[in-house]
Amino acid sequence: MAELSVRSVLVTGANRGLGLGFVQHFLRMPKPPQWIFATCRDPKGQRAQLQCVGPAEVANPTSIKEAAAKVREHLGDSGLNLLINNAGMVRSKMLDAETLEDMTETYMTNTVGPLLMGQAFLPLLKKAAAMVNISSIGGSIASLFAWDIMQVTSYRCSKAALNMLSKCQSLAYKEHGILCVALHPGWVQTDLGATAGHVPPVTVDGSVKGMLKVLSSLSEKDTGAFLDWEGKVIPW
Ligand code: NDP
Repeated sequence: MAELSVRSVLVTGANRGLGLGFVQHFLRMPKPPQWIFATCRDPKGQRAQLQCVGPAEVANPTSIKEAAAKVREHLGDSGLNLLINNAGMVRSKMLDAETLEDMTETYMTNTVGPLLMGQAFLPLLKKAAAMVNISSIGGSIASLFAWDIMQVTSYRCSKAALNMLSKCQSLAYKEHGILCVALHPGWVQTDLGATAGHVPPVTVDGSVKGMLKVLSSLSEKDTGAFLDWEGKVIPW
């Protein structure tokens, strides 16, 4: 299978976990993208494992606009080929313990963030560009994956809503030639993946490799799909 080849890419939440994994994979490609924009909310923070282009707090519209302006300065008219909305959060809670704050903060980060990112970067996303929302099988109403060990209701609701957002974006951005998909990365060995105290089966490397392979195989007809890191369709 052909390796994914893009001229420019932006990854949110790139300081650790899957976001960092994406950036490392792009850098290691035989033909790496000319531009790799890595954003994180605290570029100088202790958890930052690479130098980020700038802060992007995805629940903050001003911060997102500033990041988009910075990226535009570098790219000029050449446009952004791939936007990976990866940043996300979970509160490990049982349903009874969920609060207004958990529900709102999780929704702001996991759902509103990708909406605002899409809006702010739309002018930069040119024809033949793609927008990937890193979702979760946890948001699949048909599957309710691992309910017995992780209720995480605020997370599930935010990702179910993100799936709907991805479908809406795929329809609205079709006229601009932008392919939009929701991807489930697998249950992966990151801080978020280990929240419930279990060791997840999938490595960051395996997940990112898989997702890049899936992305390289997508075409126009796949816009609006919800797929996992192995390319399997996930039921809504
Ligand atoms: P991590 O906890 O390792 O990393 C989460 C990343 O998101 C960090 O960079 C974090 O930044 C960033 N982030 C969180 N909130 C915000 C915010 N408001 N603004 C900007 N950045 C933010 O998680 P993963 O790498 O595992 O998760 C990446 C994506 O994959 C998420 O969307 C997650 O829901 C999804 N996913 C992961 C699964 C897994 O098993 N790991 C399974 C299914 C989906 P900071 O360091 O500042 O906190």
